[in-house]
Amino acid sequence: MTVTPADIQSAARVIAGVADATPLVPSPFLTARAGHEVLLKLEIAQPIGAFKLRGALNAIAGLDEGDEGGGGTGAGAGVTCCSTGNHGRGVAYAARARGLRAVICMSELVPQAKVDGIRALGAEVRIVGTSQDDALAESQRLVRDEGLVEISPFDDPRVIAGQGTIGLELLTARPDLDCLLIPLSGGGLAAGIAVAARALRPDIRLIGLSMDRGAAMQASLAAGHPVEVPEVPSLADSLGGGIGLNNRLSFALCRDLLDEVILVTEQEIYRAMQALYYEDRIVAEGACVVGIAAILAGKVTVTGPTATIITGRNLDMAQHAAIMAGQDVQMGEYTVKGSRYEP
Ligand SMILES: *Cc1c(COP(=O)(O)O)cnc(C)c1O
Repeated sequence: MTVTPADIQSAARVIAGVADATPLVPSPFLTARAGHEVLLKLEIAQPIGAFKLRGALNAIAGLDEGDEGGGGTGAGAGVTCCSTGNHGRGVAYAARARGLRAVICMSELVPQAKVDGIRALGAEVRIVGTSQDDALAESQRLVRDEGLVEISPFDDPRVIAGQGTIGLELLTARPDLDCLLIPLSGGGLAAGIAVAARALRPDIRLIGLSMDRGAAMQASLAAGHPVEVPEVPSLADSLGGGIGLNNRLSFALCRDLLDEVILVTEQEIYRAMQALYYEDRIVAEGACVVGIAAILAGKVTVTGPTATIITGRNLDMAQHAAIMAGQDVQMGEYTVKGSRYEP
């Protein structure tokens, strides 16, 4: 099982008119900082406020309603997933469009704003445990007991192909791109973009970015196989969670296709959220700014036209307001020390 450039082309046809063609805009501020053009792919312009709709639409379009459950592809009984919030929103949206029942399983770490957004789309929500693994266990129970079909947030060929359409759009708009900075969690986004981008531009630099607290893919790549990493709260909450010890696809694709993975601190994420807001006037989740954080912290050398993906905007506005005001942010035991934005 793998994902080919042809799978991504066909995903592009499936999502056309609903989840494609997001804006690609220049960032004058980052361009000045980096000394080369820096572009932002605005997935915050998606109907659900995040790129995950691409993969969810493609996966749900591939289900048939006939044979129910039991690990088959029949979706008559409905669909289920675990999620850090945005995948659940994508699945809820895509399921509603097909008139399917959707049950979204999430842990207590998921911000209330994301939970509310999913309920508003008519999906059922289950809050279980304190980690993505707990949420996954509940989702798998629903597959066994109620015959729902599970849609993995990142380890599913159709989901990966859907996310890969971003790579297709980027390289079609700008065949001269030298480097892509891709937020990285379970690796569905990075794997899909990498398949599309490498096919079009074999020499392009592909860099995955995660927060340094709980970066499961990075730890797994270092170990040479999927490993578990304790899940802790982060400003980049959408990047939390493991990659699954039985990872089938996204791990191998990230291992084979990414050039490197760079980690950024909570402090660097905090500052990059401020920069994106005050300089580019964009409100986005912590998970989106890991590429910007790496540029500002000098952790990545920009050597030509570079694009990063502003992956989602489904954030807790009270937390965003606190960061823009320079206040401390408390996440469990961990405090991100605040400071006012200074260019
Ligand atoms: C899911 C998500 C990511 C990471 O995607 P993966 O496929 O899990 O690597 C990044 N940013 C946002 C906003 C997300 O929702």
